[in-house]
Amino acid sequence: MIELQLPLEGIDPNVPDFVVRLAGSNYEQLSDFDAALVAQDSALSIYRYGEHQFVIRQQSGEDMLGDVVLVSPSSKTVHRWIRAGSQHNTLLITERCDQLCIMCSQPPKKTHVDQFEYFLQACSLAPANSTIGLSGGEPTLYKQQLFELLLAMQSHRPSLKFHVLTNGQHFEPSDTATLAQLRNVVWGIPLYASDRELHDKIVAKSGAFARLMASFELLGATGAAIELRTVLTKQNGGVLPNLARFVVGHLPFIDVWAIMQLEATGFARRAWRDLFFDSSVDFDPIKEAILHVQTYGQDVALYNFPLCTVPSSFRGYAARSISDWKNRFSKTCDPCTLKNDCCGFFEWHPDDHTYQEIRAI
Ligand code: SF4
Repeated sequence: MIELQLPLEGIDPNVPDFVVRLAGSNYEQLSDFDAALVAQDSALSIYRYGEHQFVIRQQSGEDMLGDVVLVSPSSKTVHRWIRAGSQHNTLLITERCDQLCIMCSQPPKKTHVDQFEYFLQACSLAPANSTIGLSGGEPTLYKQQLFELLLAMQSHRPSLKFHVLTNGQHFEPSDTATLAQLRNVVWGIPLYASDRELHDKIVAKSGAFARLMASFELLGATGAAIELRTVLTKQNGGVLPNLARFVVGHLPFIDVWAIMQLEATGFARRAWRDLFFDSSVDFDPIKEAILHVQTYGQDVALYNFPLCTVPSSFRGYAARSISDWKNRFSKTCDPCTLKNDCCGFFEWHPDDHTYQEIRAI
């Protein structure tokens, strides 16, 4: 697994956190926001930034040139926020959330640390044409700061794109002008069922479905880009065709409908056996849902589906969606001819209760 947090040494713990880009040793090409590489071996790298020198310990020996990092002397940690060679960079806006989804991969916390000042700096230093994920918790609990960040980047770094994962519970009519102005964002919004009671039960919030529909109406009217997300569980897998009909009938303005397999972390890990819907032995509801929305010209994608679990005629919908830093393959995959196109598994996917049909092709 790629290390996103690395041990930090050699710097006074009282120095406040700062964001820098890790540069090479060519001092003439450094900007004011670059930390210069002073020395390096297979286990550590020494950098200089202004009057500070610091040491990053690293086991993998992975190249970090161009990475944008948060250096946190007090916690003796370097957070690799934006890796220069990756399209899977996500900033965690907050760990607070007002829902408590039964399969949440990032169970919410009550506390919040405001890091928008650092996020602004990090995005400013990101490589051109990057897509940066903004996630939580629920990022729109801090909606004004989030909007300010997105608007600032739209004006100063127009080549950057953002993907914001939100539960869609906090958009208001007063946000209309801002939403219409923002053209650098795709809003990733979950809807788990067409039945409001089932959706509310899955997100553990009464009235969530109704509130979400109000937000969709608003977002649709502003022309916002929307990736509708549905994570499959035993609770909603069988009724996916109903949701397909609902999407076509009520949400024709969405850009893509992403049907997603479950990630065995957070709450989902704890309740895996009660939640995991094995689509390798029951693909019928997914097939019916895809065929229905496709009839109406609605784009659809399968995220986190290993290719051998998907019937061959539907593999074209499956994306390599698992972020590089948490992606793995099993021994079964070694001889597989589909490996280069397959999303594989999450690093923490359980081998003892998994898809029944995993086979090299
Ligand atoms: S065997 Fe592995 S690589 Fe091949 S399709 Fe299945 S999960 Fe993907």
